[in-house]
Amino acid sequence: MLKDKHGRIHNYLRVSLTERCNFRCTYCMPEEGIDLTPKSHICTYEELLQIIDTFIDLGVNKIRLTGGEPLVRKDADHILHELGKRPVELAITTNGLIVDRFIDVFESCGLKNVNVSLDTMDPDKFTLITRRSGFDRVLENIYTLVERGFNTKINMVVMRGMNEEEIADFATLAKDLPIIIRYIEFMPFDGNRWNYEKMVPADEIRDRLSERYTLIRGEDAPHDTTKHYNIDGFKGQIGVISSMSEQFCGSCNRIRLLANGSIKNCLFSPDETNLLQPLRNGEELEPIIKEVIYHKKAKHAGMFNLSNQKNRTMTTIGG
Ligand code: SAM
Ligand code: SF4
Repeated sequence: MLKDKHGRIHNYLRVSLTERCNFRCTYCMPEEGIDLTPKSHICTYEELLQIIDTFIDLGVNKIRLTGGEPLVRKDADHILHELGKRPVELAITTNGLIVDRFIDVFESCGLKNVNVSLDTMDPDKFTLITRRSGFDRVLENIYTLVERGFNTKINMVVMRGMNEEEIADFATLAKDLPIIIRYIEFMPFDGNRWNYEKMVPADEIRDRLSERYTLIRGEDAPHDTTKHYNIDGFKGQIGVISSMSEQFCGSCNRIRLLANGSIKNCLFSPDETNLLQPLRNGEELEPIIKEVIYHKKAKHAGMFNLSNQKNRTMTTIGG
């Protein structure tokens, strides 16, 4: 088992399959994109599976694929098929644009949990936020996922001056659809021009929702970063992720593996440990991984100070 010195067991691995993306969301990366890591420093299919298998041997039983956009990796379907054979709960976070090409793969590999990022119901604003087109396709793909029985969640990053006026409207999507609408506080990362004024805190998100609906506090799963709420007459649910204003580090069970084979023991940690080179050198990965997890900090040193901290762009970490 992967235990840190604060006694937290880490069984949830988030794997960034690629740094590449077919969107350029303003909150995630700069308009010009990012300098990509040379291909020779990115895990191959075999290396990625070897590293993931080491984590599974160490007790990981939940894997979320993310990116960049995980589905633009050329061998994404092979990776999904292979991981479908492992004894893990599989999940994916995607911008939804090309999900239609993968629905059958999701089904055949046993993946059930799909989080789709969508920050607005206004097609023009969608283009402004993602710096790309595709609103209709993303929405269609969300409907298809629901029809085909996937546990579907929508991630909306709330940004003042951009989409905070849509908070209550967005919730109506969960009236007739069995989906969870998750409102996420805007977090600071390299290249996303975060500032305090642009962040809409969880309290305000709840207040805006409460102006229209009565929120009934729901149940959260252990280690959940989302606080769930029910609304009478709704098939779906509401979730609020308060990464900035209310910490949830005490129950953290997450480890992040980047496309270049580096691991991060905290989303906000500037420190990374590369596993790819040791793997290529034939070294044992288990002791390296155990050491990294053991030394995980109790919490991420007061989120608001993090706005000045050096970290990667979100697109290379994967959320
Ligand atoms: N491309 C995929 C997608 O957009 O869903 C997966 C990668 S994306 C980096 C993972 C999640 O991080 C998305 O739900 C996205 O909305 C969220 N995210 C990105 N930048 C963020 C930020 N600055 N603050 C909060 N959430 C962010
Ligand atoms: Fe791409 Fe996802 Fe980042 Fe948007 S949030 S730029 S879709 S990685």
